[in-house]
Amino acid sequence: MPQSARSAFQLTGLSKNFGTLEALKDLHLDIKQGERIALIGPSGSGKSTLLRVLGVQLRHDIGSLKAGDLEILDLSQNELQNLRTRTAFIPQDLALVSALKVSQNVLLGKIGTRSTFKTLRQILWPNTNELESVHQILARVGIGEKLFHSARALSGGQLQRVAIARTLYQGAETILADEPVSSIDPTRAHALLSLLRELNEQEGMTLLCSLHNLEYARQYFPRLIGMREGQVVFDGSPESFSQVDFENLYTLENRE
Ligand code: ADP
Ligand code: MG
Repeated sequence: MPQSARSAFQLTGLSKNFGTLEALKDLHLDIKQGERIALIGPSGSGKSTLLRVLGVQLRHDIGSLKAGDLEILDLSQNELQNLRTRTAFIPQDLALVSALKVSQNVLLGKIGTRSTFKTLRQILWPNTNELESVHQILARVGIGEKLFHSARALSGGQLQRVAIARTLYQGAETILADEPVSSIDPTRAHALLSLLRELNEQEGMTLLCSLHNLEYARQYFPRLIGMREGQVVFDGSPESFSQVDFENLYTLENRE
């Protein structure tokens, strides 16, 4: 699906501090709907913080963040909740419940759009239609047969797929995935990145992933955003990412 001219996110002079630490410094970015972007950069450069800010998990301190036409800092609690439903953040630890079945973890995707009572009822006694749609989504991400398995019994790569299925069930338009392949082996990492690319290309989902493996980033993403010490130091295609850009991003300063 072609990328839209409409912005998914616009950041203007955005900063985020933790106490005296400037985790994000004066960011200016325009991210279009339907884009597929890898966030790269050394550990501690602000990748997770940026994903959390975009996913409305963390509030920024200075500057503007627009999601579509909405200025985040102006939104009410209800509007923020709506936005979280459309913009799914998948944390590095996935936030799945290992004691529950795969189907129940996916059903939890609608927890933000239903009352707690209704969510609980759905999880304990899901109706056939609901289960059928969960099954279809699990099949879409390649693990249809795991519907009634306990989440505890799944591998890291399969759990990533459950987390992706949960975002699809939730009805998200954007996936923000924090290091989705950091703890899975290379074969499964390629399969998972291919799936994410497919969801972006075929279903038009906007996709941002932080990755510490630069080769994966170059292979699967047409746009790389390189961060260092809370700032954007590269923004462009993998083809335009040079050795100098690599050194700017990863070379340690003040080596003893
Ligand atoms: P990355 O994901 O690129 O490794 P992070 O976004 O996790 O980087 O962290 C950026 C900086 O912000 C780091 O210096 C980190 O220690 C700090 N940081 C992140 N989260 C918090 C927090 N909740 N409280 C205090 N400092 C934090
Ligand atoms: Mg991180």
